[in-house]
Amino acid sequence: MTPRTIAIDGPAGAGKSTIGALVAERLGYLFLDTGAMYRAVALAALRRGVDADDGDRLAALAREVRIAIGPPTVRDGRAYTVLLDGDDVTWAIRDAGVDAVVSQVARIPAVRDAMVAQQRALAERGRVVMVGRDIGTVVLPGAERKIYLTASAAERAKRREEELRARGDVRGRSDLLDEILRRDRIDSERAVAPLRAADDAVLVRTDGLSVGQALERVLAIVTRS
Ligand code: C5P
Repeated sequence: MTPRTIAIDGPAGAGKSTIGALVAERLGYLFLDTGAMYRAVALAALRRGVDADDGDRLAALAREVRIAIGPPTVRDGRAYTVLLDGDDVTWAIRDAGVDAVVSQVARIPAVRDAMVAQQRALAERGRVVMVGRDIGTVVLPGAERKIYLTASAAERAKRREEELRARGDVRGRSDLLDEILRRDRIDSERAVAPLRAADDAVLVRTDGLSVGQALERVLAIVTRS
């Protein structure tokens, strides 16, 4: 059986984007990294000087900005291109400044409502791999396959450090670990759509697994009848 929709959730740095993009490529599905959408709203807030605690202005901003995620337009290692009101922000949304505020922005219920509506619209046609924090629980509770991808915080910080260093963004591992733990805490403790595994999700721990091994494990779950 080929599932219509595949939901992959998990904490920061668990490898969701890497694995999700590869699963989508293997199956010829659309890939949507919903974290990029929250990051784009956070970047828009930073650029316009909107405070990360100003729920009303963030909600208005989330409804107003145009976020488009599509195939890579530049061959610079990106898995997809993110446009914010037509401006290419693919790398800008990965800046430390965005990491610092994105979870606060994503806590606002009206911001989530605006993003979830777009995410569901994109999933309507089916054949989609969607990754995030609340895909299996809230965005697509009826997804035919649900994976909860996780790894120890130390492993996630190590991977994040290597991934950033590979593109010239050198950050200390202990700072990255603190930031990952802080985001995990805000994402898990928020009132609306907190980070958690859906009851029917299959848990995959990626500690000690190579990307190839994690991919094979996820593909086996996704394609089994
Ligand atoms: O996946 P990524 O780490 O890029 O996500 C950035 C942030 O966006 C998360 O820490 C979380 O606060 C938020 N997010 C969310 N719901 C999603 C995806 C991401 O709240 N479905």
